[in-house]
Amino acid sequence: RWRGRRRRASIVPRMIAEQGATAPVDVWVGLGANLGEREEALRSALQRMAEWPGTRLIAVSALYASAPVDAGGPDYLNAVAHLQTTLAPLDVLQRLQAIEQGAGRERPYRNAPRTLDLDVLLYGSEVLSTPTLTVPHPRMNERAFVLLPLADLAPGLVSQAALDAVADQRITRLPLAWVADLL
Ligand code: ADP
Ligand code: MG
Repeated sequence: RWRGRRRRASIVPRMIAEQGATAPVDVWVGLGANLGEREEALRSALQRMAEWPGTRLIAVSALYASAPVDAGGPDYLNAVAHLQTTLAPLDVLQRLQAIEQGAGRERPYRNAPRTLDLDVLLYGSEVLSTPTLTVPHPRMNERAFVLLPLADLAPGLVSQAALDAVADQRITRLPLAWVADLL
């Protein structure tokens, strides 16, 4: 039941976030791991995503090794995946969180080392701000480990200015053909 303007304003993004798309939407997912069998964690997460209903795994970036940002612990392995899906944004987030849980993800404190971190970077060109999901991902432009692999897959989505702004972050592109078999 409507209770004035304020409630009405906030329900619109929530409806978009919960509603599946009819036509497939291009979604970019950021993957990271800095504990345990890192490459295996990323690889099996990609395998799981490819099995989602209404979803195709279109492309996966190279694997990158990066130093933790604002945090301690071992280096991360990072990558970005391009999916096309009819799943709703919140459905995508919940499914990513289920994969994180399955990989033994714990959240003892902010920016803690993690076995697996899966973030929705972009969901088509949607701009969403709900209590649990913000897209575009609010910190993606501060992170070389997001921008470099994303630029591999979709150069048009990452500006040179954005790349320049993270040029001081230590990150290495690993020369591995690591998921060719998944595509
Ligand atoms: P981070 O990835 O920023 O290091 P977490 O993985 O612990 O931190 O995520 C914290 C919360 O961020 C999650 O509970 C989730 O609800 C929220 N969140 C908001 N927007 C997004 C997004 N685009 N992708 C993933 N999580 C998001
Ligand atoms: Mg996350």
